[in-house]
Amino acid sequence: MPNYEKMVVEAAKEMARQALTVSTWGNISARDPKSGKIYLTPSGMDYKKCTEDDIVVFDAKGKRVKGMRKPSIEKDMHIYIFQHNPKFNAIIHTHALYSTIMAVAGVELPAITEEFAQTLGELAPVSKYAIPGTPLLGENVSKVIEAGHRAALLPNHGALVVGEDMKIAFRSCGVLEKASEVYVKVKSMGLEPKVIDPADVGHMHRFFTNSYGQK
Ligand SMILES: [Zn+2]
Repeated sequence: MPNYEKMVVEAAKEMARQALTVSTWGNISARDPKSGKIYLTPSGMDYKKCTEDDIVVFDAKGKRVKGMRKPSIEKDMHIYIFQHNPKFNAIIHTHALYSTIMAVAGVELPAITEEFAQTLGELAPVSKYAIPGTPLLGENVSKVIEAGHRAALLPNHGALVVGEDMKIAFRSCGVLEKASEVYVKVKSMGLEPKVIDPADVGHMHRFFTNSYGQK
């Protein structure tokens, strides 16, 4: 059985290392598809010092079953998204710079790079605004995921990415941030970013999710 506490701690450390968030903001969770248990990062902790004991565990209904730490203030968002999107077992919420620029501008991110088309598909939409830490934020972001997307830009806040597992979610997280940076920089040249044809995006996304890499 995978060690979910370790998985979440390692992803949080990697998020900090790759500067995908600012200070202690951003949060990560994983779900064990067998037990339905949800493993979430603690609130306001330096991820570099985070250990497996700091992870807070909830049952599928959102009741705490393990862990002494105060959970991330976005606990309700993580639990709501898992409950409404059974296909996904990992959620990464970042405050990464370029994703945040897109979110602040209120501009949805289309498939402008090959790896975006492969991992995220056609679009990372902007969700409806809600105050951080409120149940409404979870509902608004979940609507984007329920509509078939794998990433959402959170207005005046950051980004959220889901994946079937942590590896997939983490990879998509980096892809989203890079595509956001490319978009912003092409715009800053006074040019319009060229979007990949939707038919090609569909083809690339299907190929990547079905047969890319070492099996
Ligand atoms: Zn946040």
